[in-house]
Amino acid sequence: MAGDFIRVKCNDCENEQIVFGNASTTVNCAVCGTTLATPTGGQAEIPHDIVETVDAR
Ligand SMILES: [Zn+2]
Repeated sequence: MAGDFIRVKCNDCENEQIVFGNASTTVNCAVCGTTLATPTGGQAEIPHDIVETVDAR
């Protein structure tokens, strides 16, 4: 599996942003700068609302 993209809604500012599900680097919200995804070596940890998973094509 190549990995999926995940649409995440920031809990702090409600910005929606696409992040890579297997992100290898920390992903920050483009609006408020809070951490959206933390790399774990596998599926990134995302302590925010996941709106939907977008299959990689
Ligand atoms: Zn935000």
